[in-house]
Order: sequence, then C-alpha cells, then structure tokens
Amino acid sequence: MGILDTVIRLLCHPGNRGGARNPDDIRYLVYHYTGNDGDRALGNAKYYQSTVVQASAHYFVDDEEIYQSVGDLFIAWAVGGRKWSDCPQTGGGSLYGVVTNANSISIEMCDTSRDGKLMAAEATLERAAALGRELMEKYDIPIERVVRHFDVTGKHCPAYFVDEIAWTAFKGRLTAGKEENMKQYRYVNEMPSWGQEAATKAINIGIMKMDAAGAVSVPECNLQPLVWMDRLGLLDKAGK
Ligand SMILES: [Zn+2]
Repeated sequence: MGILDTVIRLLCHPGNRGGARNPDDIRYLVYHYTGNDGDRALGNAKYYQSTVVQASAHYFVDDEEIYQSVGDLFIAWAVGGRKWSDCPQTGGGSLYGVVTNANSISIEMCDTSRDGKLMAAEATLERAAALGRELMEKYDIPIERVVRHFDVTGKHCPAYFVDEIAWTAFKGRLTAGKEENMKQYRYVNEMPSWGQEAATKAINIGIMKMDAAGAVSVPECNLQPLVWMDRLGLLDKAGK
C-alpha cells in the first residue's frame, strides 16, 4: 500500500478549479506552503470546499494526513497570476510560462504547529516527499521537473525553501532510495582505492561472487562495511 492509498478526498468547490485534463498533460510537480501558522490539511480542504476564492491545490499535507482537494485529472488554480516584481533580485520566476496550472500538480504543505514560525513539521516534509515520490512514479515526472511555486511566479513559496540549499536537500528525499542513484561497482578496479583490498579478499574467500564475465555487482553502500570487516581481520580469518 502506498501513500496515495491513504489520501482522503474532500474535493473543493468547482468554482475554485479549472477543467478536466488527461494524465499526459501532467508534466510538473509543484511544492507550496500554506503560509498559515498552525494549520492542518483538513481545515484547508474544508475551506476550499465551502468558500469560492478562485484558488486551489491538488493536495494538502500535514504531519498526520493528506487531503485531496482537486483531482489529479482536473486543473488546480495554484501557480497562475503575475510574476513577482522582485524576481530579478531573488532569482524566482525562472519557469514562468513554462510551468502552468494546466501542466502541473500542486502539493501544499501545512504548518501544523502554532508556534509563531512558518515551518512544516518534519513528519509533514516526509509525508509530502513520499506523496511526491509516488506522483513522480505515477505520472512519469523526473526530478528535474519538480519545482517550487517560487520557480514559477517568484512568490516566496514555500518560504523555507526559497533557500537553494534547503530546497536541494528536500529534493534529495524525492530521489532517495532510487536505484539509479545508487552507484554500483562491477570490477575491483572501478572501486575507490580504499575499498579495493577488502573487495579482493572478499572475492578470494567467496563472499563476493563473480559472474561468468568476471564482474561483481557491489552497491556503493556495501563497500564500506566490507572495509570495516577487513579491519577487524574477519576477511583474513575466513580466508585461512
Ligand atoms: Zn504557493
């Protein structure tokens, strides 16, 4: 069961969204923050259901729940409007006119704790990332097309991700665990020098298997533990 299976649907008033679209139209994923100290997903979903403000987003995420306010196959009014005037200073708005309401899915992150600060809880960030990963998979959206509202119009949204370092770190959660990011070593001489001796011993004693072509497939994360084993003398002991 994925996180999409846990999403609760509480759809917005039709006056807050655009028309229907096809799955193929969805090319970008846009992250937002609600900008309300201490709000929750349910409160937002209810608000957009009952109040016509001609604005919307597909998902509202908090530290416990996700509400879907606009179906994926409908256009949310989330990233339209004018480009912000401070874009030349902030670097925002670089995708203005490229990312549109019609070609994107918008995820709003709630604030959850009322503490005078506008910051999503860790559990909210993690849930928003998990939702993003599944939507990327479902609609074939590569990480290069995951953006901030800030990138579209220059709005300082999410304010805590206008900072490039914070945003890059968050995007790391969207690609974490993906196989293509995990480096694989096929031959000992492809491995970093600090791991070659341990790997050679591991091959010699048979705990690392070679295929018919003489290649091993060792993910990067397995090389370091092997070196630790070697330092403990375990690979020498096993070879005797
Ligand atoms: Zn926004």
